[in-house]
Amino acid sequence: MTQASAKLTPIEIRAPRGGSTVEIDFEDGHKGVYPHEILRGYCPCATCQGHSGPIKFVPGGNLELMDIAEVGDYALCLTWGDGHATGLYSFGFLRDLCGCSECLPDPEAERRFPRG
Ligand SMILES: [Zn+2]
Ligand SMILES: [Zn+2]
Repeated sequence: MTQASAKLTPIEIRAPRGGSTVEIDFEDGHKGVYPHEILRGYCPCATCQGHSGPIKFVPGGNLELMDIAEVGDYALCLTWGDGHATGLYSFGFLRDLCGCSECLPDPEAERRFPRG
């Protein structure tokens, strides 16, 4: 597991209304790119993921992002168009999910991003 640290703190989050991608600037200068499909598919809440096992991609669900709220100093809470808002995305988890061109060549990331 990635430890959340100061370097992983988002300093700016861009989620244009009607868009399909969230961009997060991290404190260390890294620019994270997150298609809504990936964020929703990897929603870490117990409803989506069950209570055991590693986090996996769960397809489906509403992909319209209604709101992003910071929770404490460690996570973001995303609200989806169908009202689903129970997933807490820790900063470390978000960094692991990053789909930017710098992170994608990583085989781990490649495995996480199913290519249609
Ligand atoms: Zn969920
Ligand atoms: Zn990245």
